[in-house]
Amino acid sequence: MPSPTTITAVDVLVTSPGRNFVTLRITTADGVVGLGDATLNGRELAVAATLRDHIVPLLLGQDAHRIEDTWQFLYRSVYWRRGPVTMTAIAAVDVALWDIKAKLAGMPLYQLLGGASRSGVLAYAHASGRDVPALLDSVRQRIEEGFRAIRIQTSVPGVRTVYGVSSAPSPTGRYSYEPAKRGPLPAEEDWDSQAYLRHIPGVFETVRAEFGAELPLLHDAHHRLTPIQAARLGTDLEPYRLFWLEDVTPAENQEALRLVRQHTTTPLAIGEIFNTVWDYQTIIREQLIDYVRSSVVHAGGITGLRRILDYAAQYQVKSGMHGPTDISPVGMAAATHLSLAIHNFGIQEYMQHDPITSEVFRTSFTFTDGLLHPGEEPGLGVEYDEDAAERFPYERAYLPFARLADGTIHDW
Ligand SMILES: [Mg+2]
Repeated sequence: MPSPTTITAVDVLVTSPGRNFVTLRITTADGVVGLGDATLNGRELAVAATLRDHIVPLLLGQDAHRIEDTWQFLYRSVYWRRGPVTMTAIAAVDVALWDIKAKLAGMPLYQLLGGASRSGVLAYAHASGRDVPALLDSVRQRIEEGFRAIRIQTSVPGVRTVYGVSSAPSPTGRYSYEPAKRGPLPAEEDWDSQAYLRHIPGVFETVRAEFGAELPLLHDAHHRLTPIQAARLGTDLEPYRLFWLEDVTPAENQEALRLVRQHTTTPLAIGEIFNTVWDYQTIIREQLIDYVRSSVVHAGGITGLRRILDYAAQYQVKSGMHGPTDISPVGMAAATHLSLAIHNFGIQEYMQHDPITSEVFRTSFTFTDGLLHPGEEPGLGVEYDEDAAERFPYERAYLPFARLADGTIHDW
C-alpha cells in the first residue's frame, strides 16, 4: 500500500491557448494534484522531453512531501548541472510539490512560505508606442487600468522593428505584445545602438513632463549595449529617475556591470535568463545590481529562487520577477505567493494573458488598484482544464533575432 502522499501519476501537458505553455501535473495516491509551470519560451518541447523522458520516471513512487530532497536529487544527480532546460524542469517539479503541500495543509501557499509581508504585490505594466504620442496614449491607458508603475518602450527612428513595441492595439483594446511568432522560422528584426542611445533620453523627458515625477517608470535595454554604451544610457537617464533600467548588457558577463555601476546611479535590474544563485555571485556580492529579474519558472522553482533572494537580501537587492505572457498562469500564481511572503520584494512584472488562456487555466489571483494578490484558495489557486487544453494544440513558435544594417547578427 502506498502512503497517501506517494506520487502515483505525473503528466506533462502541452497546450497553446494564445501561446505555447508546458505544465507539469503531479498526483498523489490520495488524489491531491499539484501544478508546475515548465514553459521555456521558444524551446518548450525541450523541457517537455526532459520531464517526460528523464524526470517523470524518477518521481513515480516518491514521497510528495520531500520538496528539498527532491530538488537536491534532481539538481545533483543529473551531473550536468544548471542550464535553462534543466532548471525549468526542476522548477516545474518544485512548484507542483509546493502546491500539493499547501493543499494538504489547507492553506494558500504564501502562508506556508511564512505568511504575508504586505497587503499586495506592486505590479508594473508594459506600455509602448510606434511614436511618442502613441506611447503617451499607451501609458495613459495602463494607468486607467489601475497600474501604478509602467515600463515604457518605443520605436527608434531608422529601426524597423524594435523589441517591446506593440504593433497595434488588439480589437478588444487589450494591450498585447508577443515576440514569439508562430511559424517555421524566427522573424528577423534590425537594430542600431547609436540611434537608440540618441533617441531614448528625449522620450523619457517627454513622458516625465506629461505624467509628473512620481510615476515609477521602467525601461528594458534587452541585452544590446556594450558596457560603455550602457554607462552612457544610465547617465543620460538620471534626470528622469527611473525605477530601474533593465538588461543593459548581455547577461553572461557579470563583470561588465562594474563599469556601468561606476558611472551611473540609475538603478539596474538583470537576470531573467539566469537560472541559479551562481549566476548572481559577483553582481550581488559587489552590489552591482538593485533588482533580481529571475522568475520562479526559470530559476529552479520556489526553492531555487528563494535561495537567490535570501542571498540578495543581505545586500539590499530586491526581487523584480520576470512576468510576461511566457510565464503561464501557474507560474504567475507561484510568483505572487512568493512575492507576498518575502521581505525583499521589489516589484512584479505583470503583462496579463490573452483572455483565451483562461479557458485552460482557472486562477484565483486578483489585480486590484495596481496590486496583485494570490487569493485564499489552498495551494497555488490554479486549476488546469485538460479538455479545454486539447482544443489548443502546440504550434511551433520562435523568439525573433536581430541583425545590424550590414547584416551582422546582434543580441536580440
Ligand atoms: Mg528583460
